[in-house]
Amino acid sequence: MQAVGVIPRRKEIRLLEHHAPQISANDEVRIRALEVGICGTDKEICTFVYGAPPAGSEYLVLGHESLGQVVEVGTSVRDLKPGDLVVPSVRRPCPHQHCQPCRADLQDFCATGDFTERGIKMKHGFMTEYYVEQEKFLTYVPPELRDVAVLVEPLTVAEKGLAQVWKVQQRLPWTLGNGGGKPPGYGLKAVVLGAGPVGILGAMALLANGFETYVYSRSKKPNPKAELVESLGAQYISSLTDSVNQLAERIGNIDLVYEAVGAAKISYDVLRVLGTNGIFVFTGIPAPRPPIEVDADIIMRNLVLKNQLVVGTVNADKAAFQNAIRDLAVFSKRWPSELRALITGRFTLENYRELLVGERGGIKNVIALA
Ligand SMILES: [Zn+2]
Ligand SMILES: [Zn+2]
Repeated sequence: MQAVGVIPRRKEIRLLEHHAPQISANDEVRIRALEVGICGTDKEICTFVYGAPPAGSEYLVLGHESLGQVVEVGTSVRDLKPGDLVVPSVRRPCPHQHCQPCRADLQDFCATGDFTERGIKMKHGFMTEYYVEQEKFLTYVPPELRDVAVLVEPLTVAEKGLAQVWKVQQRLPWTLGNGGGKPPGYGLKAVVLGAGPVGILGAMALLANGFETYVYSRSKKPNPKAELVESLGAQYISSLTDSVNQLAERIGNIDLVYEAVGAAKISYDVLRVLGTNGIFVFTGIPAPRPPIEVDADIIMRNLVLKNQLVVGTVNADKAAFQNAIRDLAVFSKRWPSELRALITGRFTLENYRELLVGERGGIKNVIALA
């Protein structure tokens, strides 16, 4: 069968002939790939800065944002049956007995670094016709989400981030939904950095949780992403027209920053204006660059005097996948056209090169296999 992969040793990106996988254990599920989303991680792997093939393979099949349909289940699979829609998670636990997070099915917190990731690190991905996965790494998707469920994996970034926020901000017992039946973000102000798919999905999650939400991104208005963001009920502010200080003046106390831009300069500049008792959630992974100047004294003073928190978050656990599917249903009711507008193009496997190394724009581009 066909697959798109990279051959790092030869710095090649190719349409490959890949063996069709079969079920080899009772808890496995064979899945037909329906859609796979393309993101910055895939594009970075195609520049060969990271991305490792499985042991014994010259190539790595790409793709980690998948929607699939079950075609066959092993004898001990309990909750899935042929025809069901599923989304697989990405990270698989390390083998070490002493790694407590991995042994507790929380490999997103793996302590050894020896985890693997499908389509990224030493396990083949989902940019292919069929794949096999253990049931525990799959989450069921209701059929009504068929056309948007490829967005589940990028939404898990915000879901895990918010799960961290709810946990650590319990230090503020008078806020975060403790006001009697109000959504947890009621009366609080959130800033999203970046207007890519992770940022826009994060803005949807923040709005759905009741935050007054601002998206701070580079492009000047009017532009299609700004229009989309504002039709959700968030405010779009361009960094070309409003400086970080102006942003802070406009908003007032910034209770939460959700960073989805992957650039350090703007992020640390916005950290400087985080509000009292605020939390700053980093999700981006910047490419290494020479050191930059930051207002370290102001940032350190504020962290102390304003009781601020900075938290980084990577990958996602099972709960984040379940929450993403639940919230996607909420988004689909509240913003049916805007949610679908996030998927700006559907392509065939043969279009891989244009999507991975070409200049194809848009928000989220998807390879549709069926
Ligand atoms: Zn991705
Ligand atoms: Zn581990």
